[in-house]
Amino acid sequence: MGVSAHADTGSDYPGRWWHRLDDGRIQCDLCPRYCKLNDGQRAFCFVRMRQGDGIVLTTYGRSTGFCIDPIEKKPLDHFYPGTPVLSFGTAGCNLGCRFCQNWDISKAREIERLSEVATPDMIADAAVRTGCRSVAFTYNDPVIFAEYAMDTARACRERGVKAVAVTAGYIAPAARRDFYAVMDAANVDLKAFTEQFYHQLTFSHLEPVLDTLRYLRHETDVWFEVTTLLIPGHNDSDDELTRLAQWFAANLGPDVPLHFTAFHPDFKMTDVPPTPPTTLTRARRIGVAAGLKHVYTGNVHDAAGQSTYCAGCGKRLIERDWYVLGEWNVVDGACKFCRRKLAGRFDVAPGTWGAKRVPVSLRARSASGPAS
Ligand code: SF4
Repeated sequence: MGVSAHADTGSDYPGRWWHRLDDGRIQCDLCPRYCKLNDGQRAFCFVRMRQGDGIVLTTYGRSTGFCIDPIEKKPLDHFYPGTPVLSFGTAGCNLGCRFCQNWDISKAREIERLSEVATPDMIADAAVRTGCRSVAFTYNDPVIFAEYAMDTARACRERGVKAVAVTAGYIAPAARRDFYAVMDAANVDLKAFTEQFYHQLTFSHLEPVLDTLRYLRHETDVWFEVTTLLIPGHNDSDDELTRLAQWFAANLGPDVPLHFTAFHPDFKMTDVPPTPPTTLTRARRIGVAAGLKHVYTGNVHDAAGQSTYCAGCGKRLIERDWYVLGEWNVVDGACKFCRRKLAGRFDVAPGTWGAKRVPVSLRARSASGPAS
């Protein structure tokens, strides 16, 4: 294991959300996988394991690296548009998506990849130092490193920096409450709208994800947006998209943004072609027809499908092409023309970060990490 320079980082950070079973095993209650572990056994997500009488998180305080991204890349289009977000991930995942777009991180088995030592305070300080409006837990799912993500979110809050979770929303109810109590925003993947897809292609289930979405909408103030990666032939039929959009409108309401993004062949799904732009446009049309006010296309150039329009008068409020903003017609968080409030969180003016992606180092590195 890498040698930590800090007392609060390392490979045996005490995990929360578990209980002992009658047969002597310990059950993790963090995600609906509910792994049951014997002593010394690693869990499905790989980064949690049983050690003696408890579960430990082996990746607390260590990251695969940091990048400053545009907030639009998460994607979040209604959360301080144009601002930079300090983004990082760890290793492992609690899903097993065959089409994973970040598989080098999520499937990382070598702990050596976690080269960067980064305590919550170091991360929050780095966000302030680099002028980031927020910190994002992304690249792999923060649910599996929840203790680390939550401590970092708290450290960010103390400094006026926002915390953003980019997640599949696969989390058990008690942990869900704890986790979202300290998050300011989330982008939640809704990977498809059939149990068959979730079961066969992600090794998880649809219903807990729908529960998370309903929970966020009705029981929290967390700003959230939803992303569906459209995979040709697997989740992009008119029927499935119509059912998804209608459920969305009925359960989440018309103002929650929905992003349809383009798939590129990856990991164990290299035999499927990339998503044609016409599929994204078709999906967007279906979402709008269901009554959704903010439906976006992603991972392509499409200014018409990526700009934000007023839910009242229909005028363009934020011009957007991929991650680059243009015209801005939002005043005090409302439409400049008809004064209808725009759903989301907005500063007086948009940020000016643009499409840049800038790797940053927090400098201190573990003994097993590469030299900076
Ligand atoms: S968080 Fe990890 S250990 Fe816990 S139930 Fe999910 S996959 Fe298993």
